[in-house]
Amino acid sequence: MSYTGPDFDPPRNPRSRRRPLTVAVAALVCGGLLGWGVYAATGGTDDGGAGAEAKGSPSAPSPTPSQPASPSAGNTEGGGDEESSASRPPGASAPAATGPLKGKVVVIDPGHNPANFRHTAEINRQVDVGTHRKECDTTGTSTNDGYTEAEFTLDVAHRMRTLLRKQGATVKLTQDRDRPYGPCVDERARIGNEAKADAVVSLHADGSGSGNRGFHVILPGVVNSGGADTRAIVAPSRELGERVAGNFVRVTGTAPSNYIGGGTGLVTRKDLGGLNLSTVPKVFIECGNMRDGKDAALLTSGAWRQKAAQGISEGIVSFLRG
Ligand code: ZN
Repeated sequence: MSYTGPDFDPPRNPRSRRRPLTVAVAALVCGGLLGWGVYAATGGTDDGGAGAEAKGSPSAPSPTPSQPASPSAGNTEGGGDEESSASRPPGASAPAATGPLKGKVVVIDPGHNPANFRHTAEINRQVDVGTHRKECDTTGTSTNDGYTEAEFTLDVAHRMRTLLRKQGATVKLTQDRDRPYGPCVDERARIGNEAKADAVVSLHADGSGSGNRGFHVILPGVVNSGGADTRAIVAPSRELGERVAGNFVRVTGTAPSNYIGGGTGLVTRKDLGGLNLSTVPKVFIECGNMRDGKDAALLTSGAWRQKAAQGISEGIVSFLRG
């Protein structure tokens, strides 16, 4: 997703989380994730508040998010908002007969839609996201060479679907290039809600300045306004987000964002309709910055996307297995 004037809220960093986080980092370093070790050493402050784009390095050490989860699990997709399964069966998958996630429903929300650019009037239509009105959807960003965020998110979603189905989960995508545009962000949320998803992950890649690198997971903040009430999902979504972030680091070896989140890889926002309108645990992940050459080299690599899909999926599996 590319932000325009984001209102980032400082990620919370409860003291109580520190210990497990530290343990997680230690394990990662031992595991030989050099990049992460370097990151951990340089630190990250507790967040970056408002300035979403503080370029440059993180400053205080603040270990990160989550606990590594068990490798092995599948993927999910996520998140966000998609169209309801009733109207669009193609996104749904039959539950696997067996597997640790049997009976669990995961919704993967591939951000944007490859054809959104042909439907500017429709995607610019304003929809109610509880706190305010905003565009139905956006075209998303792309690498400087033209690999689009929408293609990226669908590719990772498909890889995740395969992995998560192997774990026994029922997986639904909010869109699978099977509609002319969208869905709008409110519908993306509704799809997860109506599916009674146990976890939803919305997939994105950022469009920030060159030199800004790394991933971050976006968590819902407390919103109780209009049709939005996130109070019940804030805590489980944080748990989901921490597990996704921790596993993403572990599997991809990619460090958290150096330009937002203070090095934690976690950011809380209250302006995203896909989160505000969700009634089930949900997070977004910005897998990297498409406008940075080094991140773009990762995002355009199928091998790296497989790792990304695996990391996110394993975070979901960890969350669902408790
Ligand atoms: Zn996006």
